[in-house]
Amino acid sequence: MTKQPSPPNRPDKHTPASLAFATQAVHAGNEVDAGTGALRTPIVMANSYALPEDPSTLSWSGTAAGLYTRNSGTNQLGLQRKLAVLEGGEDAVALASGVAALHAVFFSLLKTGDHVIVADVTYEAVHRLFAELLPEKYGIQATFVDTTDLGAVRAALRPETRLIHIESVANPTTRVTDVAAVAAIAHRVGALLSIDNTFTPPPLFRPLAHGADLVVHSLTKYINGHGDAMGGAVIGSADLIRRIKLDAMVDVGGVISPFNAWLIMRGSVTLPLRLRQHCTSAQTVAEFLDGDPRVAYVAYPGLAAHPQHDLARRQFPHGFGGMMAFAVTGDPDTQNRFVANLRVITSAVSLGHDESLIVHVDGSGPRVAAYPAEFRELGHLRLSVGLEDADDLVADLAAALDATFP
Ligand SMILES: *Cc1c(COP(=O)(O)O)cnc(C)c1O
Repeated sequence: MTKQPSPPNRPDKHTPASLAFATQAVHAGNEVDAGTGALRTPIVMANSYALPEDPSTLSWSGTAAGLYTRNSGTNQLGLQRKLAVLEGGEDAVALASGVAALHAVFFSLLKTGDHVIVADVTYEAVHRLFAELLPEKYGIQATFVDTTDLGAVRAALRPETRLIHIESVANPTTRVTDVAAVAAIAHRVGALLSIDNTFTPPPLFRPLAHGADLVVHSLTKYINGHGDAMGGAVIGSADLIRRIKLDAMVDVGGVISPFNAWLIMRGSVTLPLRLRQHCTSAQTVAEFLDGDPRVAYVAYPGLAAHPQHDLARRQFPHGFGGMMAFAVTGDPDTQNRFVANLRVITSAVSLGHDESLIVHVDGSGPRVAAYPAEFRELGHLRLSVGLEDADDLVADLAAALDATFP
Protein backbone atom coordinates (compact mmCIF):
# COMPACT_ATOMS: atom_id res chain seq x y z
CA MET A 1 0.00 0.00 0.00
CA THR A 2 1.32 3.43 -0.87
CA LYS A 3 2.05 5.46 2.24
CA GLN A 4 0.86 8.99 2.53
CA PRO A 5 3.68 11.50 2.98
CA SER A 6 4.89 11.87 6.57
CA PRO A 7 5.13 15.45 7.77
CA PRO A 8 8.76 16.39 8.31
CA ASN A 9 8.56 17.17 12.03
CA ARG A 10 7.09 13.86 13.18
CA PRO A 11 8.45 10.31 12.94
CA ASP A 12 6.59 7.77 10.84
CA LYS A 13 4.06 6.00 13.05
CA HIS A 14 2.75 3.50 10.56
CA THR A 15 4.21 0.30 11.95
CA PRO A 16 5.17 0.65 15.59
CA ALA A 17 5.46 -3.14 15.88
CA SER A 18 7.94 -2.88 18.74
CA LEU A 19 5.58 -0.74 20.82
CA ALA A 20 3.16 -2.14 23.38
CA PHE A 21 -0.48 -2.61 22.44
CA ALA A 22 -1.79 0.45 24.30
CA THR A 23 0.71 2.65 22.45
CA GLN A 24 -0.29 1.13 19.11
CA ALA A 25 -3.96 1.70 19.96
CA VAL A 26 -3.23 5.43 20.34
CA HIS A 27 -0.88 6.00 17.41
CA ALA A 28 -1.30 3.40 14.66
CA GLY A 29 -2.93 4.68 11.48
CA ASN A 30 -3.05 8.29 12.64
CA GLU A 31 -0.68 11.01 11.59
CA VAL A 32 -0.33 14.78 11.50
CA ASP A 33 -2.46 16.04 8.64
CA ALA A 34 -0.10 17.38 5.98
CA GLY A 35 -2.56 20.04 4.81
CA THR A 36 -3.64 21.57 8.12
CA GLY A 37 -1.15 20.38 10.74
CA ALA A 38 -4.06 18.83 12.69
CA LEU A 39 -2.86 16.07 15.02
CA ARG A 40 -5.80 13.86 14.11
CA THR A 41 -6.59 12.84 10.54
CA PRO A 42 -9.62 15.00 9.62
CA ILE A 43 -12.82 13.52 8.15
CA VAL A 44 -12.28 13.69 4.40
CA MET A 45 -15.76 13.76 2.87
CA ALA A 46 -14.58 13.58 -0.74
CA ASN A 47 -15.61 11.00 -3.31
CA SER A 48 -12.53 11.49 -5.43
CA TYR A 49 -8.97 12.75 -5.28
CA ALA A 50 -6.93 14.85 -7.74
CA LEU A 51 -5.28 12.72 -10.44
CA PRO A 52 -1.69 13.14 -11.57
CA GLU A 53 -1.13 15.04 -14.82
CA ASP A 54 -0.63 11.79 -16.68
CA PRO A 55 -3.13 9.26 -15.26
CA SER A 56 -2.37 6.64 -17.91
CA THR A 57 -0.19 4.62 -15.52
CA LEU A 58 -2.94 4.44 -12.85
CA SER A 59 -5.02 1.33 -12.32
CA TRP A 60 -8.68 2.32 -11.99
CA SER A 61 -9.11 -0.57 -9.58
CA GLY A 62 -6.06 0.49 -7.54
CA THR A 63 -6.34 0.64 -3.77
CA ALA A 64 -3.45 2.98 -2.96
CA ALA A 65 -4.03 6.54 -1.74
CA GLY A 66 -5.49 9.31 -3.83
CA LEU A 67 -8.03 7.87 -6.26
CA TYR A 68 -11.65 7.28 -5.25
CA THR A 69 -13.34 6.64 -1.91
CA ARG A 70 -14.66 3.21 -2.95
CA ASN A 71 -10.99 2.19 -3.38
CA SER A 72 -8.96 4.24 -0.97
CA GLY A 73 -10.57 7.04 1.05
CA THR A 74 -8.21 8.78 3.46
CA ASN A 75 -10.07 7.75 6.63
CA GLN A 76 -10.54 4.21 5.38
CA LEU A 77 -6.79 3.90 4.67
CA GLY A 78 -5.89 5.11 8.17
CA LEU A 79 -8.33 2.67 9.77
CA GLN A 80 -7.01 -0.20 7.65
CA ARG A 81 -3.42 0.57 8.70
CA LYS A 82 -4.47 0.66 12.33
CA LEU A 83 -6.40 -2.63 12.21
CA ALA A 84 -3.49 -4.38 10.49
CA VAL A 85 -1.17 -3.23 13.30
CA LEU A 86 -3.59 -4.15 16.10
CA GLU A 87 -4.15 -7.68 14.75
CA GLY A 88 -0.54 -8.19 13.64
CA GLY A 89 -1.47 -8.66 9.95
CA GLU A 90 0.18 -7.35 6.81
CA ASP A 91 -2.91 -5.53 5.58
CA ALA A 92 -6.60 -4.96 6.28
CA VAL A 93 -9.74 -4.03 4.36
CA ALA A 94 -12.48 -1.98 6.03
CA LEU A 95 -16.08 -2.40 4.84
CA ALA A 96 -19.55 -1.10 5.69
CA SER A 97 -20.48 -3.73 8.31
CA GLY A 98 -19.33 -6.93 9.91
CA VAL A 99 -21.62 -8.90 7.64
CA ALA A 100 -20.13 -7.17 4.58
CA ALA A 101 -16.68 -8.26 5.82
CA LEU A 102 -17.77 -11.87 6.30
CA HIS A 103 -19.38 -11.98 2.88
CA ALA A 104 -16.26 -10.40 1.36
CA VAL A 105 -14.12 -13.32 2.58
CA PHE A 106 -16.49 -15.97 1.28
CA PHE A 107 -17.28 -14.23 -2.01
CA SER A 108 -13.65 -13.40 -2.84
CA LEU A 109 -11.95 -16.64 -1.89
CA LEU A 110 -14.52 -19.36 -2.78
CA LYS A 111 -15.92 -20.58 -6.08
CA THR A 112 -18.35 -23.18 -7.39
CA GLY A 113 -17.45 -26.70 -6.25
CA ASP A 114 -15.47 -25.56 -3.20
CA HIS A 115 -16.30 -26.97 0.22
CA VAL A 116 -16.25 -25.11 3.53
CA ILE A 117 -16.35 -26.34 7.12
CA VAL A 118 -18.36 -23.89 9.23
CA ALA A 119 -18.82 -23.92 12.98
CA ASP A 120 -22.39 -25.04 13.72
CA VAL A 121 -22.86 -22.13 16.13
CA THR A 122 -22.13 -18.77 14.49
CA TYR A 123 -23.56 -15.37 13.83
CA GLU A 124 -26.97 -15.75 12.18
CA ALA A 125 -25.98 -14.34 8.78
CA VAL A 126 -23.06 -16.76 8.43
CA HIS A 127 -25.37 -19.67 9.01
CA ARG A 128 -27.83 -18.50 6.37
CA LEU A 129 -25.06 -17.72 3.88
CA PHE A 130 -23.77 -21.29 4.09
CA ALA A 131 -27.11 -23.05 4.63
CA GLU A 132 -28.90 -21.32 1.73
CA LEU A 133 -27.40 -18.47 -0.23
CA LEU A 134 -23.91 -19.67 -1.18
CA PRO A 135 -24.97 -23.28 -1.97
CA GLU A 136 -28.08 -22.25 -3.92
CA LYS A 137 -26.65 -19.30 -5.83
CA TYR A 138 -22.99 -20.28 -6.25
CA GLY A 139 -22.76 -24.06 -5.73
CA ILE A 140 -20.48 -23.74 -2.70
CA GLN A 141 -20.93 -26.68 -0.29
CA ALA A 142 -20.75 -26.37 3.48
CA THR A 143 -20.63 -28.79 6.40
CA PHE A 144 -21.66 -27.48 9.82
CA VAL A 145 -19.49 -28.93 12.59
CA ASP A 146 -19.03 -28.57 16.33
CA THR A 147 -15.50 -27.17 16.02
CA THR A 148 -14.67 -27.90 19.67
CA ASP A 149 -14.57 -31.55 18.51
CA LEU A 150 -11.31 -31.74 16.53
CA GLY A 151 -12.12 -35.28 15.37
CA ALA A 152 -15.37 -34.00 13.86
CA VAL A 153 -13.47 -31.21 12.07
CA ARG A 154 -11.01 -33.76 10.61
CA ALA A 155 -13.86 -36.07 9.60
CA ALA A 156 -15.59 -33.26 7.69
CA LEU A 157 -12.57 -32.53 5.47
CA ARG A 158 -12.97 -33.22 1.75
CA PRO A 159 -10.44 -32.94 -1.08
CA GLU A 160 -12.22 -29.75 -2.14
CA THR A 161 -12.27 -28.14 1.35
CA ARG A 162 -10.87 -24.62 0.90
CA LEU A 163 -11.87 -22.85 4.11
CA ILE A 164 -12.72 -23.46 7.75
CA HIS A 165 -14.68 -20.64 9.39
CA ILE A 166 -15.10 -20.31 13.17
CA GLU A 167 -15.73 -17.71 15.89
CA SER A 168 -13.24 -17.07 18.69
CA VAL A 169 -16.09 -17.21 21.22
CA ALA A 170 -19.25 -18.50 19.60
CA ASN A 171 -22.30 -16.26 19.45
CA PRO A 172 -24.40 -16.95 21.56
CA THR A 173 -23.25 -20.14 23.30
CA THR A 174 -19.76 -18.77 24.24
CA ARG A 175 -18.25 -22.07 23.08
CA VAL A 176 -14.47 -21.76 22.55
CA THR A 177 -12.61 -23.47 19.69
CA ASP A 178 -8.89 -24.35 19.84
CA VAL A 179 -7.70 -22.01 17.09
CA ALA A 180 -4.14 -23.35 16.75
CA ALA A 181 -5.40 -26.95 16.48
CA VAL A 182 -8.02 -26.09 13.85
CA ALA A 183 -5.46 -24.00 11.92
CA ALA A 184 -3.16 -27.03 11.79
CA ILE A 185 -6.00 -29.22 10.51
CA ALA A 186 -6.85 -26.67 7.81
CA HIS A 187 -3.27 -26.17 6.69
CA ARG A 188 -2.55 -29.88 6.39
CA VAL A 189 -5.01 -29.99 3.46
CA GLY A 190 -4.14 -26.55 2.06
CA ALA A 191 -7.32 -24.89 3.36
CA LEU A 192 -7.50 -21.46 4.99
CA LEU A 193 -8.80 -20.68 8.48
CA SER A 194 -10.92 -17.55 8.89
CA ILE A 195 -12.04 -16.51 12.33
CA ASP A 196 -14.60 -13.99 13.48
CA ASN A 197 -12.81 -12.31 16.40
CA THR A 198 -15.58 -9.82 17.22
CA PHE A 199 -16.11 -11.15 20.78
CA THR A 200 -12.39 -11.10 21.73
CA PRO A 201 -10.65 -8.25 19.90
CA PRO A 202 -6.97 -7.55 20.52
CA PRO A 203 -5.29 -7.33 22.98
CA LEU A 204 -7.48 -10.20 24.26
CA PHE A 205 -6.75 -12.41 21.26
CA ARG A 206 -4.79 -12.09 18.01
CA PRO A 207 -5.75 -15.13 15.91
CA LEU A 208 -3.08 -14.59 13.21
CA ALA A 209 -0.43 -15.36 15.84
CA HIS A 210 -2.21 -18.69 16.48
CA GLY A 211 -2.20 -19.79 12.85
CA ALA A 212 -5.41 -18.25 11.48
CA ASP A 213 -5.14 -16.85 7.93
CA LEU A 214 -7.88 -14.22 8.12
CA VAL A 215 -9.48 -12.33 10.99
CA VAL A 216 -12.93 -10.78 10.59
CA HIS A 217 -14.39 -8.10 12.86
CA SER A 218 -17.68 -6.40 13.25
CA LEU A 219 -16.16 -2.99 14.03
CA THR A 220 -19.69 -2.01 15.08
CA LYS A 221 -19.01 -3.78 18.36
CA TYR A 222 -15.98 -3.49 20.68
CA ILE A 223 -13.50 -1.86 18.31
CA ASN A 224 -15.70 1.20 17.89
CA GLY A 225 -17.16 0.58 21.32
CA HIS A 226 -19.57 3.50 21.52
CA GLY A 227 -22.62 2.15 19.72
CA ASP A 228 -22.70 4.94 17.15
CA ALA A 229 -21.19 3.55 13.93
CA MET A 230 -21.22 0.41 11.81
CA GLY A 231 -18.23 -1.16 10.13
CA GLY A 232 -16.47 -4.40 9.39
CA ALA A 233 -12.96 -5.49 8.55
CA VAL A 234 -10.83 -8.37 7.38
CA ILE A 235 -7.15 -8.59 8.35
CA GLY A 236 -4.53 -11.01 6.96
CA SER A 237 -1.65 -11.40 4.54
CA ALA A 238 -1.10 -8.77 1.84
CA ASP A 239 -1.95 -11.33 -0.84
CA LEU A 240 -5.31 -12.45 0.63
CA ILE A 241 -6.36 -8.89 1.49
CA ARG A 242 -5.44 -7.71 -2.02
CA ARG A 243 -7.82 -10.32 -3.47
CA ILE A 244 -10.61 -9.25 -1.10
CA LYS A 245 -10.05 -5.57 -1.87
CA LEU A 246 -10.16 -6.11 -5.62
CA ASP A 247 -13.15 -8.45 -5.70
CA ALA A 248 -15.37 -7.45 -2.80
CA MET A 249 -14.43 -3.84 -2.09
CA VAL A 250 -13.73 -2.29 -5.50
CA ASP A 251 -16.10 -4.40 -7.60
CA VAL A 252 -18.93 -5.13 -5.15
CA GLY A 253 -18.55 -1.88 -3.26
CA GLY A 254 -19.75 -2.28 0.33
CA VAL A 255 -17.24 0.30 1.57
CA ILE A 256 -17.20 2.08 4.89
CA SER A 257 -18.08 5.79 4.90
CA PRO A 258 -15.37 8.31 5.81
CA PHE A 259 -17.41 9.41 8.84
CA ASN A 260 -17.84 5.88 10.19
CA ALA A 261 -14.15 5.14 9.60
CA TRP A 262 -13.28 8.30 11.54
CA LEU A 263 -15.63 7.40 14.43
CA ILE A 264 -14.20 3.88 14.64
CA MET A 265 -10.62 5.25 14.56
CA ARG A 266 -11.53 7.48 17.47
CA GLY A 267 -13.36 4.80 19.43
CA SER A 268 -10.54 2.29 18.99
CA VAL A 269 -8.03 4.49 20.83
CA THR A 270 -9.49 3.35 24.16
CA LEU A 271 -9.91 -0.32 23.16
CA PRO A 272 -7.39 -1.75 25.69
CA LEU A 273 -8.76 0.34 28.55
CA ARG A 274 -12.35 -0.55 27.74
CA LEU A 275 -11.68 -4.26 27.32
CA ARG A 276 -9.99 -4.45 30.71
CA GLN A 277 -13.16 -3.06 32.29
CA HIS A 278 -15.52 -5.20 30.19
CA CYS A 279 -13.61 -8.32 31.29
CA THR A 280 -13.48 -7.59 35.02
CA SER A 281 -17.12 -6.45 35.16
CA ALA A 282 -18.28 -9.47 33.13
CA GLN A 283 -16.47 -11.83 35.51
CA THR A 284 -18.18 -10.14 38.48
CA VAL A 285 -21.60 -10.30 36.80
CA ALA A 286 -21.15 -13.93 35.68
CA GLU A 287 -20.15 -15.03 39.18
CA PHE A 288 -23.12 -13.21 40.69
CA LEU A 289 -25.56 -14.86 38.26
CA ASP A 290 -23.91 -18.25 38.70
CA GLY A 291 -24.41 -18.06 42.47
CA ASP A 292 -28.14 -17.25 42.36
CA PRO A 293 -30.55 -20.22 42.49
CA ARG A 294 -33.13 -18.32 40.40
CA VAL A 295 -30.67 -18.35 37.48
CA ALA A 296 -30.89 -21.65 35.58
CA TYR A 297 -27.51 -21.50 33.82
CA VAL A 298 -24.72 -19.09 32.88
CA ALA A 299 -22.41 -19.55 29.88
CA TYR A 300 -19.24 -17.46 30.24
CA PRO A 301 -15.71 -18.72 29.43
CA GLY A 302 -14.36 -17.18 32.65
CA LEU A 303 -16.40 -19.53 34.86
CA ALA A 304 -14.61 -22.68 36.01
CA ALA A 305 -17.61 -24.80 34.99
CA HIS A 306 -17.52 -23.60 31.34
CA PRO A 307 -16.82 -26.67 29.17
CA GLN A 308 -13.75 -25.05 27.53
CA HIS A 309 -12.57 -23.02 30.54
CA ASP A 310 -9.03 -24.47 30.51
CA LEU A 311 -8.63 -23.83 26.79
CA ALA A 312 -10.06 -20.32 27.23
CA ARG A 313 -7.51 -19.57 29.96
CA ARG A 314 -4.68 -20.60 27.65
CA GLN A 315 -6.08 -18.88 24.57
CA PHE A 316 -7.26 -15.66 26.25
CA PRO A 317 -4.74 -15.04 29.05
CA HIS A 318 -5.74 -11.36 29.39
CA GLY A 319 -9.47 -11.94 29.95
CA PHE A 320 -12.56 -13.65 28.58
CA GLY A 321 -14.41 -10.70 27.09
CA GLY A 322 -17.69 -9.11 28.05
CA MET A 323 -20.22 -11.49 26.48
CA MET A 324 -22.31 -14.12 28.28
CA ALA A 325 -25.60 -15.95 27.95
CA PHE A 326 -27.88 -17.12 30.74
CA ALA A 327 -31.51 -17.83 31.56
CA VAL A 328 -33.62 -17.46 34.65
CA THR A 329 -35.74 -20.41 35.73
CA GLY A 330 -39.10 -20.33 33.99
CA ASP A 331 -40.85 -20.00 30.67
CA PRO A 332 -40.27 -17.39 27.91
CA ASP A 333 -42.74 -15.01 29.58
CA THR A 334 -40.66 -15.17 32.75
CA GLN A 335 -37.50 -14.32 30.76
CA ASN A 336 -39.35 -11.34 29.23
CA ARG A 337 -40.60 -10.16 32.61
CA PHE A 338 -37.08 -10.37 34.03
CA VAL A 339 -35.75 -8.22 31.17
CA ALA A 340 -38.61 -5.73 31.60
CA ASN A 341 -37.67 -5.40 35.29
CA LEU A 342 -34.12 -4.24 34.49
CA ARG A 343 -33.54 -0.51 34.93
CA VAL A 344 -29.83 0.03 34.03
CA ILE A 345 -29.34 -2.76 31.48
CA THR A 346 -31.12 -2.03 28.17
CA SER A 347 -33.03 -4.55 26.05
CA ALA A 348 -31.51 -4.21 22.57
CA VAL A 349 -29.51 -6.18 20.03
CA SER A 350 -25.82 -5.47 19.34
CA LEU A 351 -22.94 -5.69 21.81
CA GLY A 352 -19.61 -4.20 22.76
CA HIS A 353 -21.28 -0.87 23.62
CA ASP A 354 -20.43 1.32 26.57
CA GLU A 355 -24.03 0.52 27.65
CA SER A 356 -24.92 -2.96 28.90
CA LEU A 357 -27.32 -4.59 26.45
CA ILE A 358 -29.46 -7.69 26.87
CA VAL A 359 -31.58 -9.60 24.37
CA HIS A 360 -33.96 -12.49 24.98
CA VAL A 361 -33.93 -15.19 22.30
CA ASP A 362 -36.33 -18.09 22.80
CA GLY A 363 -35.31 -21.71 22.20
CA SER A 364 -36.94 -22.12 18.78
CA GLY A 365 -35.59 -21.77 15.25
CA PRO A 366 -33.49 -23.86 12.87
CA ARG A 367 -30.08 -23.05 14.35
CA VAL A 368 -30.76 -24.06 17.94
CA ALA A 369 -30.28 -27.77 17.23
CA ALA A 370 -26.56 -27.13 17.73
CA TYR A 371 -27.04 -25.33 21.06
CA PRO A 372 -26.55 -26.96 24.47
CA ALA A 373 -29.70 -28.54 25.97
CA GLU A 374 -30.28 -25.72 28.48
CA PHE A 375 -30.30 -23.12 25.67
CA ARG A 376 -32.88 -25.18 23.77
CA GLU A 377 -35.11 -25.75 26.78
CA LEU A 378 -35.12 -22.27 28.30
CA GLY A 379 -33.95 -19.98 25.51
CA HIS A 380 -31.21 -17.54 26.42
CA LEU A 381 -30.58 -13.99 27.51
CA ARG A 382 -27.48 -12.69 25.73
CA LEU A 383 -25.82 -10.06 27.88
CA SER A 384 -23.14 -7.64 26.71
CA VAL A 385 -21.63 -6.27 29.91
CA GLY A 386 -20.93 -2.57 29.43
CA LEU A 387 -18.83 0.07 31.13
CA GLU A 388 -21.25 1.05 33.90
CA ASP A 389 -20.11 0.47 37.49
CA ALA A 390 -20.14 -3.32 38.04
CA ASP A 391 -21.90 -2.96 41.41
CA ASP A 392 -24.75 -1.09 39.69
CA LEU A 393 -25.07 -3.89 37.14
CA VAL A 394 -25.19 -6.57 39.83
CA ALA A 395 -27.72 -4.52 41.81
CA ASP A 396 -29.87 -4.10 38.70
CA LEU A 397 -29.83 -7.85 38.02
CA ALA A 398 -30.56 -8.64 41.69
CA ALA A 399 -33.48 -6.20 41.82
CA ALA A 400 -34.93 -7.62 38.58
CA LEU A 401 -34.65 -11.17 39.99
CA ASP A 402 -36.48 -10.05 43.15
CA ALA A 403 -39.20 -8.38 41.09
CA THR A 404 -39.59 -11.42 38.82
CA PHE A 405 -39.66 -14.00 41.63
CA PRO A 406 -41.49 -12.20 44.46
C1 LIG B 1 -22.61 -8.29 15.06
C2 LIG B 1 -21.79 -9.40 14.61
C3 LIG B 1 -21.55 -9.58 13.24
C4 LIG B 1 -22.16 -8.70 12.19
O1 LIG B 1 -21.69 -7.41 12.26
P1 LIG B 1 -22.52 -6.13 11.72
O2 LIG B 1 -21.57 -5.02 11.92
O3 LIG B 1 -23.77 -6.05 12.55
O4 LIG B 1 -22.83 -6.40 10.29
C5 LIG B 1 -20.73 -10.64 12.87
N1 LIG B 1 -20.19 -11.47 13.78
C6 LIG B 1 -20.41 -11.32 15.10
C7 LIG B 1 -19.78 -12.27 16.05
C8 LIG B 1 -21.21 -10.28 15.56
O5 LIG B 1 -21.45 -10.15 16.87
